[in-house]
Amino acid sequence: MSDLAGMDFSADFSGVPGILLSVLIGLCLGSFATAMTWRIPRGQSWIATRGRAEHSACPSCGHPLRLLDLIPFFSWVALRGHCRYCGAGIGWRYPVIELLTLALCVIINLIFGITPAGLVLMLAMPFLVALVAIDLEHMILPNQLNLILWVLGVAYICVTRDGGAGLQSALLASLIYAVLSFVTGWAVSRVLKKEAMGFGDVKFFAVAGLWLGVSALPAFLMLSGVAGVVMGLAWKIIWKRERFPFGPSLIVAFLLCLIFLEQINALLY
Ligand SMILES: [Zn+2]
Repeated sequence: MSDLAGMDFSADFSGVPGILLSVLIGLCLGSFATAMTWRIPRGQSWIATRGRAEHSACPSCGHPLRLLDLIPFFSWVALRGHCRYCGAGIGWRYPVIELLTLALCVIINLIFGITPAGLVLMLAMPFLVALVAIDLEHMILPNQLNLILWVLGVAYICVTRDGGAGLQSALLASLIYAVLSFVTGWAVSRVLKKEAMGFGDVKFFAVAGLWLGVSALPAFLMLSGVAGVVMGLAWKIIWKRERFPFGPSLIVAFLLCLIFLEQINALLY
């Protein structure tokens, strides 16, 4: 049996070819992320193939979209955010989601290279970006996305740590994060007499624990706390609303820990 972790893909994809490949992967995954943010909250299947007519049509005029209209980000810029056929505005969130996914894939390539770990990380990006977008818009963290990220976490552990022992400690960390967030959320809810944290957030803690491990818990809690306060204030000041989604703060903290864990730990300890 060959050891996946020991395999070296980077020799062939270092430098410019690696960056080009990560851009290509990022563009594809970015368009996948936008599709998920539209379909999942509406209960539509997102596994259906792209070629089906129903979801490559303009939502306003129903005109089928051609290949030229579907190029991630570039089509939106070329058409200045309007449908080519009816002129209806296309939300700026689509290019933002696509660009964000693209940028994350390029950053991951620069740090991890085109390696098994780097590829699993890139694969996780559209799901994380979709979670942020859906939580901001609908205040939910869909179970299916949390579940997929949890399964990808198992794959990540398998390619980055040695076998069974690594997986065992990752599963334990997943449980610890989830229980801790549940108990904290429950206690805070009792004190504030209002719901402090949704079950979606608790499930995301389980995902974060699996990927990051117990050693990253202090950094993750600190970063998500800081991000949560910033986000809560912004929500209150800009949108004048009390209830704000906690998911985006958790995901920002998770991404920072995932990509920069060594640097963060070096700063903290
Ligand atoms: Zn149209």
